[in-house]
Amino acid sequence: MKERIHKDIVIIGAGMAGLTAALYCGRMNLDTLVLENGLVGGQIANAVAIENFPGFVSVSGGELIATVQKQAESFGAVIDEFDEIERVTLKATPKIIETQEKIYEADAVIIATGMNRRKLPLPEEKKFSGRGVHYCELCDGHAYDGKIIAVAGGGNAAVDAANFLTKYATKLYLIHRSELRADDFSQRRMRANDKITVMLQTDIKALRGDKKLEAVEVFDKTTGETKTLAVDGIFVNIGVEPNTKLFRDELTLSASGRIIAGEDCRTEIDGVFAAGDVREKEIRQLTTAASDGTTAALLAEKFLAKLKG
Ligand SMILES: Cc1cc2nc3c(=O)[nH]c(=O)nc-3n(C[C@H](O)[C@H](O)[C@H](O)COP(=O)(O)OP(=O)(O)OC[C@H]3O[C@@H](n4cnc5c(N)ncnc54)[C@H](O)[C@@H]3O)c2cc1C
Repeated sequence: MKERIHKDIVIIGAGMAGLTAALYCGRMNLDTLVLENGLVGGQIANAVAIENFPGFVSVSGGELIATVQKQAESFGAVIDEFDEIERVTLKATPKIIETQEKIYEADAVIIATGMNRRKLPLPEEKKFSGRGVHYCELCDGHAYDGKIIAVAGGGNAAVDAANFLTKYATKLYLIHRSELRADDFSQRRMRANDKITVMLQTDIKALRGDKKLEAVEVFDKTTGETKTLAVDGIFVNIGVEPNTKLFRDELTLSASGRIIAGEDCRTEIDGVFAAGDVREKEIRQLTTAASDGTTAALLAEKFLAKLKG
């Protein structure tokens, strides 16, 4: 039989949003548990250099996250890695989170499970990740001032990224395997931008370079031609997968699969909050994840205070 353990608050996910929430909850003397099904850190764990987190001129993702983890643990939050959650019952009082090993009863829950970005299905992707292959134009675009880059993808995210990145790039290839799905407005803006060359029905076959990306090899499915494009970087925008499978039966999800909650991070279930990239919102950055973690923790504390009278 699994051990049953009561907690004031369970935070699901130990990325920037979850760890910030843990830091605040710990400092408010709440009995706080963070459940993480992988390694602490989330999307940022392996980022080489972060230059837009206030207080740091440049910091690696690993160092930034280790600092926030240390802060959270110093205030008593417990972080449990690798105990996979099997099911949750969020509408119950208390809320139930059942893992492979234990059953947790929590008075409040913060969901901070983030998302995964779809990667290019090429074996060299790993070698060049952060060294020419990027997934976030707002995060890494600035490093490509005066350079030649590519964007992979054909939806709104890719086309908007291409438009945005011409702030920096002198030339940009938008490469997509089929036809564009982006809305008319974004497509018109892109077509009017003479820095952008649109390459449709084109597959990316290989990434080339020594220590960093130097070129992409593409195959034009219409002409049957293979070309090598010299680029300094490629931004991959071929879709994201929000980590919300566990919550599908309990919470309303948006069309993109994220949890619907307002800027106050409150979901439709009392005492359940959604923070960070898992929440449906427009801007997904480390600062907004930290902001959500703060909001969710402070409002969860208010909820708990009311609950306990
Ligand atoms: C390569 C890269 C570079 C980036 N660089 C920057 C940058 O320079 N500046 C910037 O502001 N932003 C950057 N971003 C964006 C930034 O990383 C995200 O906005 C931020 O990490 C979101 O934090 P989060 O805590 O909401 O989610 P995540 O970072 O996605 O963390 C979610 C955590 O929850 C865990 N989890 C998922 N499902 C479960 C489950 N069922 N049970 C338990 N745990 C679960 C995951 O393992 C993960 O650890 C970058 C993103 C990428 C991919």
